[in-house]
Amino acid sequence: MYDATLVAARALPPDPLRPAIAVVGSGPSGCYVAQFLAKQWPHSEITIFESLPAPYGLIRYGVAADHQGAK
Ligand SMILES: Cc1cc2nc3c(=O)[nH]c(=O)nc-3n(C[C@H](O)[C@H](O)[C@H](O)COP(=O)(O)OP(=O)(O)OC[C@H]3O[C@@H](n4cnc5c(N)ncnc54)[C@H](O)[C@@H]3O)c2cc1C
Repeated sequence: MYDATLVAARALPPDPLRPAIAVVGSGPSGCYVAQFLAKQWPHSEITIFESLPAPYGLIRYGVAADHQGAK
């Protein structure tokens, strides 16, 4: 469905002090790069996309089932 507000928002010039950043993957790499970017651009809008139902990648999913505490 046509949405005039979305078209108008896209037409706005990007604000270099408030960049919109997408990070793909919420594993350690994604989380650390998001943290670094947030420090560099405190007013940025950072969105982390994750394909799995829960974040943190192999740090979470790679921990063996018999180590529930660490998980
Ligand atoms: C069994 C095992 C034990 C380990 N033990 C240790 C340990 O004791 N100490 C240690 O330091 N390291 C350990 N590691 C290594 C550590 O887990 C990895 O080095 C670390 O997780 C790598 O981080 P990463 O962010 O690069 O990748 P990952 O952890 O793999 O994270 C990538 C994330 O991106 C998501 N993703 C990928 N593609 C897409 C997409 N197209 N769209 C959305 N999301 C996407 C994935 O679902 C995942 O959540 C272990 C690894 C394994 C497998």
